Amino acid sequence: MDIQQIYKLYPTQRECLHHLEDIRWGDDPACPNCGSFNVTQFKNELRWHCNDENKSYSVLKDTIFEGTRLPLQKWFYAIHLMLSAKKGLSAMQLSRNLGVTWNTAWYTAMRIRCAMQDQSYILEGIIQSDSTYVGGKPRKTNIRSKDGKNKRGKGTKKEQIIGYVEQRPDGKVVAKRVNKDVETLELLQLLKKNVKIDKSVLITDEGKEYTQEFDKIIQRYMVKHKKEFSNHGINTNTIESFWAIIKRGITGQYHHLTKRYLPFYISEFAYRYNNRHNKNMFNELIDDSLKEDKCFIYMKPKKGVEAEICV
Ligand SMILES: [Zn+2]
Repeated sequence: MDIQQIYKLYPTQRECLHHLEDIRWGDDPACPNCGSFNVTQFKNELRWHCNDENKSYSVLKDTIFEGTRLPLQKWFYAIHLMLSAKKGLSAMQLSRNLGVTWNTAWYTAMRIRCAMQDQSYILEGIIQSDSTYVGGKPRKTNIRSKDGKNKRGKGTKKEQIIGYVEQRPDGKVVAKRVNKDVETLELLQLLKKNVKIDKSVLITDEGKEYTQEFDKIIQRYMVKHKKEFSNHGINTNTIESFWAIIKRGITGQYHHLTKRYLPFYISEFAYRYNNRHNKNMFNELIDDSLKEDKCFIYMKPKKGVEAEICV
């Protein structure tokens, strides 16, 4: 789907709404509140009326589009732009493209990221695992270690992300932000949740987070980066190149992002990576945008519940 097709297929708000109604309800428009089919369409207002509850609603209720004043055509355009920006798209850039304020652009992008959450893949085959650090540089006072060099990775205030990726041309990735003190546990949990252990082998570097617990449940090969980057084809290059995309995106597009929102950005990068050969990506994301579980769980998380991930 390119921009021309979007404008041609959905020239007005009415066409956009009809398209969303078709996807969400098909031939049976049900009330999102009570599930009743005893409903009547308001012809002029582009809304529906539930006769059981005597309430009106639109197809946007309980979706990422709920309460929006932005025309749906601009939403579709925003989705298209985000899907085609390999290294991410800043709210500033999006605001210029859509002709809206920075605030509107930021919220639009965040809601689209909500629709990209929780793409649960089960990986198998040759799996590479690694972790990386992203985020701002630490303050000047604590960046120098004893040898006078800038500190990197562990021990800085950067955020840590862990990930698994299938080592094949159309391989999928799963990635997650973790707290530095629980990385081994979370790596194991992510492994058990997203990898077919009996049908896979794992390639890691010599990181301390890969303990004997891993070797107990999965066959593992280690690349010793101090000696070599690839040992007869055994390497962690695939996951390294996924980190490179995230890092370039975060440095180049999203200069400041807080810890709280990092999971949303990781899911955006993972979504694009996992759909890089998917020609139907636009329609599938529109489909996901209408799912109630994608709606406000992440935008308005309950107290104490943090946005999960990213797979
Ligand atoms: Zn109802």
